[in-house]
Amino acid sequence: MSDLRKEIEKRRTFAIISHPDAGKTTLTEKFLLYGGAINLAGSVKGKATARHAVSDWMEIEKQRGISVTSSVLQFNYGGYCINILDTPGHQDFSEDTYRTLMAADSAVMVIDGSKGVEAQTRKLFKVCVMRHIPIFTFINKMDRDANDTFELLQDIENELGIETCPINWPIGSGKEFKGVYDRNTKKVMTFSDTLKGTKEGSEKIIDIDDPALVDEIGEDFRAQLLDEIELLDGASAEFDQELVSKGELSPVFFGSALTNFGVETFLQHFLQMTYAPLARQSDQGEIDPFSEDFSAFVFKIQANMNKNHRDRIAFMRICSGKFEAGMEVYHVQGGKNIKLSQPQQMMADERKIVEEAYAGDIIGIFDPGIFSIGDTLTTAKDKFRFEGIPTFAPEHFARVRLVDSMKRKQFVKGVTQIAQEGAIQIFQEYKGGMEEIIVGVVGVLQFDVLKFRLEKEYNVEIRLENLPYEHIRWIANKEEVDMDNLTGTSDMKKVIDMKGNPLLLFINAWSVGMVLDRNEGLKLEEFSRN
Ligand code: GDP
Repeated sequence: MSDLRKEIEKRRTFAIISHPDAGKTTLTEKFLLYGGAINLAGSVKGKATARHAVSDWMEIEKQRGISVTSSVLQFNYGGYCINILDTPGHQDFSEDTYRTLMAADSAVMVIDGSKGVEAQTRKLFKVCVMRHIPIFTFINKMDRDANDTFELLQDIENELGIETCPINWPIGSGKEFKGVYDRNTKKVMTFSDTLKGTKEGSEKIIDIDDPALVDEIGEDFRAQLLDEIELLDGASAEFDQELVSKGELSPVFFGSALTNFGVETFLQHFLQMTYAPLARQSDQGEIDPFSEDFSAFVFKIQANMNKNHRDRIAFMRICSGKFEAGMEVYHVQGGKNIKLSQPQQMMADERKIVEEAYAGDIIGIFDPGIFSIGDTLTTAKDKFRFEGIPTFAPEHFARVRLVDSMKRKQFVKGVTQIAQEGAIQIFQEYKGGMEEIIVGVVGVLQFDVLKFRLEKEYNVEIRLENLPYEHIRWIANKEEVDMDNLTGTSDMKKVIDMKGNPLLLFINAWSVGMVLDRNEGLKLEEFSRN
């Protein structure tokens, strides 16, 4: 096997998604621990950084010059090279969170066993489904009182509309958490909470038929386990690798990230059930990851908060071949050859310069302002473009008012640039000009970022006036629709996006249905593909 093939075959690139506090950070730390990337868990990212007020957040952005919200971690384990893409949560949840999923080959969903599926998981999950990528579920915090296991699975199936297949099964929870039963090996791994932060512990593995099991978990739990297994074998979906690969069946694991229980088994199964980077779709057909030609697409642009250097970092996902520092590649959208200088990779807390990287990896490249989200770079002779990254629906809207109307020019330049980076979306009134701008964001923190950046970088002061719209729909068949004569509802507003696409804003969800009823042939979409 060639070296190129070997390197790419060992790559696994996944995004980790969860509702805040479910244990994503803790689980990531434990993964790194197994990879030997850190000695003791607890140092992935200062917890403080994820949780502070806007002003601190800005400070941190400035000091580090990178986003605290953009971590990509790489580690080696069992002969694999694993890239974890963190998806920012909480208030810094933004469109970037969604875009990160476009760069991943699979997703790990962390769920708090006492809470089940929560709001943020639901949103991220939708994007995974759209991409048909494998989704693995880790039900965490089993050392705390958890919901009934069957109910937890039912909740996932109902809420997310995906079938589940438990690979292991918990025995008790909270103070009575005894361990997990592996359905494949038919062995019980017993829980002990003395493993905190360490790699090796004294997990005992006992066969389900071994009489010694009673001593370990007690007769009641053993009887309950046998009952549940019987029920489960009769009722749950069977493991089917093909359905897993298509994202239609989610393998489920139980554990406790904090006490480091069930983490390594999860990782091992995950590696067995996923593949190296697969071919990606382009306008010239599928691009083979093992091709000698390098190719990548930009999925995120991070502005440097240092106002003296208005440079940006473009994050790209390598889709084929090998990257070498300083190499010259063709930037398809820009129509030019460029040298990829200062390549960087995010490792835990710091950035490091990378000399080489392979399909599956993520690198950050210095961007003098030439890249846009979705751009393709390649060394291939026959040029192609990777499929674009959809524009996701903003959920919060505000009207932007300029305080000093003399600064209109800087203002337009500023909002346009910030919108190009993809941090915000801007809209104009239908048949209006840039006089009145409406900003849409996925996470409310982006409003503050916009205000802050316009002030600091463009010397423009703005006022934001919140608008009540919550639902946005692009018109899928805009060529066939007469915007002027659309029959709307009283809470509907017509606007135009930066690319000139018409779309509709609504206050009430039911208005969307009304407008569809009232205008025959109208097709609406929750995101824009162009
Ligand atoms: P994130 O917001 O999803 O990244 O969640 P964190 O990893 O920061 O975890 C949130 C809180 O839950 C922290 O106080 C963790 O120590 C705690 N936690 C994480 N995993 C577990 C677990 O398995 N059991 C218990 N009891 N607590 C956990």
